[in-house]
Formats: sequence, structure tokens, C-alpha cells
Amino acid sequence: MPLFGMNEPKLPSPEEIQKRLSEVLQATFGGKQSVVSQPSGQSKSSSGGGNRGLHPLLSKFRHTPRDIKEYLDRFVIRQEEAKRVLSVAVCDHYHHAREALNGESFLEYAKQNILLIGPTGVGKTHLIRHVADLVGVPFVKADATKFSETGYVGGDVDDLVRELVERAKGDISLAEIGIVFLDEIDKIATSSKNPGRDVSGRGVQTGLLKLMEETEVSLKNPSDIQSQIQSVIEMQTQRGRGSMHRETINTRHILFIASGAFEGLDRIIHHRRKQLRVGFCTNTTACALESNVLQTANTQDFIEYGFESEFIGRLPVRSVCHLLEVEDLFRIMRYSEDSIIRQYERAFRPYGIKIHFEEEALRKIAASAFQEGTGARGLLTVLERLLRDFKYELPDSGVTSFTVNPALVKEPRTCLTCLLRHGSAEKERALIIAARQFMQQFSEQHKVQVEASEAALIRLAQQAIRERITMRELCGKLFKDYQFGLHLIQEGKLETTKLVLPEEAIDNPEEYLSKLVAQSYHDGEGLQKG
Ligand code: ADP
Repeated sequence: MPLFGMNEPKLPSPEEIQKRLSEVLQATFGGKQSVVSQPSGQSKSSSGGGNRGLHPLLSKFRHTPRDIKEYLDRFVIRQEEAKRVLSVAVCDHYHHAREALNGESFLEYAKQNILLIGPTGVGKTHLIRHVADLVGVPFVKADATKFSETGYVGGDVDDLVRELVERAKGDISLAEIGIVFLDEIDKIATSSKNPGRDVSGRGVQTGLLKLMEETEVSLKNPSDIQSQIQSVIEMQTQRGRGSMHRETINTRHILFIASGAFEGLDRIIHHRRKQLRVGFCTNTTACALESNVLQTANTQDFIEYGFESEFIGRLPVRSVCHLLEVEDLFRIMRYSEDSIIRQYERAFRPYGIKIHFEEEALRKIAASAFQEGTGARGLLTVLERLLRDFKYELPDSGVTSFTVNPALVKEPRTCLTCLLRHGSAEKERALIIAARQFMQQFSEQHKVQVEASEAALIRLAQQAIRERITMRELCGKLFKDYQFGLHLIQEGKLETTKLVLPEEAIDNPEEYLSKLVAQSYHDGEGLQKG
């Protein structure tokens, strides 16, 4: 269903390709060579053959609206009405799909496609993604604007359905009960007052309308020559094996959810109410402040906004997601199960760093995020700004935990410097302990007594930090000849002695050892008495 393919070169259908191939074969080999002809999967009414049936997931679908809502409550803060409306619509949709595919219901059914109205970043996608997760169906999200530019830009609307098959890893009956989420649907409205605006919007609406209702979508993209040739090959091989694979996807039980901010819709509603004299608001400013006005939008308002009546009629379930307040943003971080805070905990974990957030700091972050005006997306912006340098500087700094408190939110740079100073002292301490352990193990293993002076230990720690290697690696490298050298010394004059390595031994280990060996043979003074 290419909507804007006018300027694209028209590609032959699989049937045409078959015909041409047959002609080529006949011309080349003579006789009655032919390529088998099968109906292509592009026919909008063909059933496509194959086994259309009830997916096991649907036969197990026993959810109630209440348990879907409870599940959503774990992840989505506020948006109570949207959660309830969605839960009911999803239950209706999948219970009906089960009955219909099971052959239990032949009654006319009005599909529960959903329209979610609300500003950006308030949880619309988040809601749908979690519904899809719970039900276990594939989910595809696309911006309706992708299809609204002049010309063939992002592909045609059928691609959405093909993408569902991809998400379902080729399981067509699972794709046929998937969820398609169309964001920015308000951008394909064609304003009657401004006919020049977005001329392709009407075409997109028509294309989507067919998908939302019921249609067969070819598994192969008709504007992709490779897909078409692939179809021909598959037809041949399937015929040879006597089996027919599915070529089309039926959209009857795909749930479509559209969403958008619908700026300016409130004015249309006010205008209607004023004209009907049933509005309880006469003052426009007061009306504009009426937050629930969008909830009262009716089909006529959407038509006035620029939608075809058939199109908006296919989105019968409507709900509004509200703007999130500072307190909501705080609660999202604090209480939602997949809070962005978890994301930061996970980001630091691979480096062995624990991050802890104080409530007071979260409140401050929520207040800054609110100023961004992008809903909960503002949280990511603020947290990224705040913790970007921490993410860069802290790994490998010796810091093993830190707390995001109001002081850090106020002066992140100062706190980071302080943390790094503390971290490097911690790291040095840990390396000194590791160096002592190395010396002890070396002594036990080689039956000699070796220690390092305090100054030498610090020198070792600093070198390990500088070279970014462990103490074991560093000591192994520096003292690789010491085992042999120290035995030589033992063979000399001294027996029960303890070697205390000075700084010099760290800077020039080989030179120091040679000097030691020579000394021990000459005068036995190379080793200090233990
Ligand atoms: P949109 O309304 O534009 O579709 P999203 O649902 O994509 O916004 O929200 C962006 C991100 O913000 C989500 O991934 C989620 O982490 C967070 N978020 C938004 N709203 C909520 C909410 N009400 N509760 C919990 N998290 C939310």
C-alpha cells in the first residue's frame, strides 16, 4: 500500500516477474519452460493461505482489567484514567480476539483501537510498552509524521505491520495480535481552515484507516525488488514441497493505539461549548486553565481539528494523559519499578560503585526536571547533566560508593573533586595492603623474608595507579628476578635475615638487586639484620 510512490519507479509484481522469467526460460531452453504462477500476497482481500489460527498466548489470556491496571501501577505513576481505560480496552480486545479465532464468536465487533491524548513525556509509550510486555505480544512504535511528508519518505504504513512480524521473530499468528503504537498522530491532521498544511495527511489517514479496520498486508514489501524475487523463489520451492507458507498478515486483531499532544484542540472544544451555550466557562483564560477540558473532546472536535470522520471513528476509545507535576516526577524516580534511578545504579555497578539517592536530592532534581517542560523526559536531561562527569571520572578512581545529596545537586563539580581526592587515597590504601600481601606470599613461597619500607609501598601504589595495573601485576614485573637473586644472597654469608626494600628498589629493581648480591658476597652488608 505505498501511499506516496508516485515518483518511485513502479516495480513489477511477483506475477509479472514470473511471466518474464518464463519467457526468458523459453527463449533460452525452448519447449514449455515456465515459472509457476501463484497469487501474490499483495491482494488486499486474499487470505494468503496457510494456517491462520489461535496463538497459544491468546488461549491463555485470562487477564481482568483490574489486574492489568495493578500491573501498570507498578511502573506508571499517575495517569489513573488512562490506565483504567487502557486496561478495559485491552481485555475486551484480546478476549474478543480469542473467541473470534477460536470460532466461538461470529458477532459484529467494533474494534477497540485507542487514542491517547497528552503532552510529551507523560507516560503514553511507557503504558503501552508495559501492556505489550504483560500480554506478551510484539509492539511497534512509529511517528505518524514519518508517513506525512511529501513523497515516499520513511516507507509505507504497511511497514509497521511487517515490523511486527520481525518483532515476533517471524511468528505471524503472534504478529497478528500485536500492538502498533502511532505517535504524533495529531501531525497528520489536515486543517480545513488551512488547506495548505500537510497535504499528505489525508492520504496517510486513508492508509491507516484500512490497516486499523482489516486488511491483508503482504509479508514482502512490494516496492523492494529483492523481496519480490524472493517471493517468486519461495513460491517455486513451496510448490515443490507441496506446502504453502503464509504470505500475508491479517490486521483484524492487531491493536492500534494512536497518540498525540493535540495542541489547539482545547480551543476547538471551548468554541463548541460556547456556541452550544452549554459550557460552564465563559471566560477564555479560565477555560484554558481547565485541565480536564480535553477529556470532553468529541468526534466532531477531532473532525474540526483535521481528521477524516472515518479515521477518527476507528479510534473509539479515547483517554487523556495529564501533565506531570513536580511531585509526580519525584514519585516516578522514587517509586516506579523501572525508575530511571535504577538505570544509574546499573550504570555504576560494573565499576563496583554504589550510588545512593537522598530523598531531598530527588525533590530538587524533580523541580529542575519540571522546568524542562518535557515531562519525565526532563528527569533524564537533568540527571545526565548532573552525573555525566561522575560517570566519566569515577570508574577506576577508587571511589566505591557515593550519595547524591542536596549538596551534590547544588555543586556537583566541588563534590566530584572531593570524591576523587578521597577515592585516590582509598585506592592507594588498598594497593598498599595488596603490596604487603604480595611481599608476605613471596616470603613464604621462597623462604626468604622480604618487606617494603613505607616509602617504597607508597611508591609501588603510585606506580600501579599510573600504569593502571594491579599490584600483583606490578610486583610480578618488578621483582621477577628477585627469587633467584635472593637465593644467591642466601647462599652467601647471611642466613636468617630480612630484606627491607627501599624506594630505590622500586625505581631500579634490577640494579638494586645486583648491588645487593655483590654486596652480600663481599661484606654481607647487603641485608639488614632482621
Ligand atoms: P510519551 O508520553 O511522550 O510517550 P514516554 O512514555 O515515552 O512519554 O515517557 C518517557 C520516559 O519517561 C519513559 O520511558 C519513562 O521512563 C518515563 N515516564 C514518563 N511518564 C511516566 C509515568 N507517568 N510514570 C513513570 N514513568 C514515566
